[in-house]
Amino acid sequence: MKKNEIVELDITDLSYEAMGVAHYEGMTIFVNNALPGEKIKAKLLKIKKNFAFAKIEKIIKESPDRVNVKLNHWVQTGLASLAHIKYDKQLEFKRNQVVNLLHKADLDKIEVGQTLPSPQEVGYRNKAQVPVRKVKGQLDIGFFRRHSHDLVPLTNFFTTDPEIDRVLVAVRDILRKYNVPAYDEIHNKGEIRYLDVRRSKATGEIMVILVALHKDFEHLQDITQEISQIDKVTSIVLNHNPKKTNVILGKKDYLLWGEPQITDKIGDVSFKISPQSFFQINSLQTPRLYDLAIQKADLKPDDVVIDAYSGIGTIGLSVAKHVKAVRGMEVIKPAVDDANANAKLNGITNAEYVVGKAEEVMPRWAKEGLKTDVIFVDPPRKGLTPEFIDAAVETDPKKIVYISCNPATMVRDLQLFQEQGYDFNEIDPVDMFPQTPHVEAVTVLEKK
Ligand code: SAH
Repeated sequence: MKKNEIVELDITDLSYEAMGVAHYEGMTIFVNNALPGEKIKAKLLKIKKNFAFAKIEKIIKESPDRVNVKLNHWVQTGLASLAHIKYDKQLEFKRNQVVNLLHKADLDKIEVGQTLPSPQEVGYRNKAQVPVRKVKGQLDIGFFRRHSHDLVPLTNFFTTDPEIDRVLVAVRDILRKYNVPAYDEIHNKGEIRYLDVRRSKATGEIMVILVALHKDFEHLQDITQEISQIDKVTSIVLNHNPKKTNVILGKKDYLLWGEPQITDKIGDVSFKISPQSFFQINSLQTPRLYDLAIQKADLKPDDVVIDAYSGIGTIGLSVAKHVKAVRGMEVIKPAVDDANANAKLNGITNAEYVVGKAEEVMPRWAKEGLKTDVIFVDPPRKGLTPEFIDAAVETDPKKIVYISCNPATMVRDLQLFQEQGYDFNEIDPVDMFPQTPHVEAVTVLEKK
């Protein structure tokens, strides 16, 4: 096999990154955008020892699961790598990810529910963080081509709320009008690195964050004044990120105009959200995810509940009125401040949030003799740590409800809980991120 050679392939499977998989002359070949059941002519791109990458030259036999979206090739590969698959098949793909992981862990007896579909299949994101760079001599917004920092200019971000796209374009045009230089990452020069725009689905309020190399720059006042005129913008923040780094946000935020937070709602609970706080990005699907988790928790009025990896307290504050007490922890201080303020805002007096790493706070609480009834965990992709799991078990909960954005680490952690006398029999995938391969899942562990 040689690079650039054209071969005929039968696609038999989808990888976890949603690439078509074929077997050819003892090699596994991954093909972007190809679907199981398709016969294709493909050009070999990169050849390794046991596997290779190829790209479609021609589809000879097309899968009935294919949809022909009119998307730029780079949008498809970078932002929406499932967009060529019918939505019900996307849901099946996500369920299969969980089934395969359980199979590898010898847990085939665990049931996997049907993936809960998202109410919106496109335009569902309530937040966009888009890079700003100079392209063809002018400041532009877009996204980075996969595995690169080449900006592909874009004005319709497909999975993002169109109201956010509207604001992104308007801010881009104001920055162009004042000749603000885009960030130049090679020399750590220029000015605007990212635009970060959030919109509350419940109130319509919009926050614009200019992520900039300097705290102040030429025409900032005029620019702020013009952005404040964009319909529905209620908050303008400058995030100062002076470092040569790939991390998007710097540590400091400066309010330029309007409110320091935007207000959103989940169910009947209101939440104020600060610029650095995590908030679930699929507004219409989040209450459905939480309802599922809360239903699994089967809460009682006397329960002591932990909300671990709490963000701004969205899960704990949604249940506080139905239980005895809620305690939570989260590593980002502004998010914890939001959580405690949000408790007050909603007249909740039995919930308290602290700043700290879950794997450090939980052992401290266990040592103090805390006993719990239900623990909600909602960790980032890397999952829980053994220290957290040991301490959680020490507080003797009846149930642990695990919400995960990465089923691989979830299955690993569930096995650790099993070794300590907890069991589970079902996992329910939830589609929080249509058109992308990301899988969210919920399960409940019960004490044997
Ligand atoms: N439960 C919230 C947040 C989930 S996202 C919600 O549904 O909105 C995960 C959160 O964990 C983020 O807010 C992140 O800042 C926080 N986090 C990441 N690592 C952490 C750690 N080691 N200890 C505590 N919180 C952590």
